[in-house]
Amino acid sequence: MKKKEIVLPQIKFKYSSLTDENGERLRYPDETCYFCGKDNIIFGGIIDAHRKNPKIMCENCAIKKFAKDNGYKTLKVASARRRRLFDVSYLFTDMITERYLKKHEKFNLDDISEKEYNMIVQIARDIFNAIDRNEKERIEEIFDQKDIEKELNFYIKDLFK
Ligand SMILES: [Zn+2]
Repeated sequence: MKKKEIVLPQIKFKYSSLTDENGERLRYPDETCYFCGKDNIIFGGIIDAHRKNPKIMCENCAIKKFAKDNGYKTLKVASARRRRLFDVSYLFTDMITERYLKKHEKFNLDDISEKEYNMIVQIARDIFNAIDRNEKERIEEIFDQKDIEKELNFYIKDLFK
C-alpha cells in the first residue's frame, strides 16, 4: 500500500482529550463555516488568519482541503493523516504528564494543580516546537502508537528524573 492510501489508526490518550465526557468532539455552537455554511461546527481551521477577513472553516471542509492539497486518495485517509498533525503533540503532552505524575507519585490529573498542568503543557509545547519539521512528519506517519511513543521518548528521556 502506498503512503497516501493508508488509514492511520487513531492515537489513544490517557490524559489529554479532545472529547467531552460522552466521547463527543467539542463543537463551537456560535460559529458558522464560511465554506459550507453549517453551524455548530467542529473547528477545522482559519483561512486568511492574518488578513482583514479571516474565514472560519469546519473540520469537514478542512479535511477536504487537506486531501486536495496533499493528494490523498480518500477523505478517510486524509482525515486520519490530518488528525496526526494534532494528536502526536497531544500524545507527547500525555507522555510528559505521565512522567510528571510518576515522579510525584500521583495517579491522575486531579492530583495536580492547574498551575502544574499548565507547566507540563508549556514544557511539551516548547520541546515539541523545537523538533525539526521533517522529523515531526516522519513521526506522524508511523503506523503504531507504541513506535511513535518510542520516537517521542527520545526527546524526554532525561525529563523529571
Ligand atoms: Zn464547512
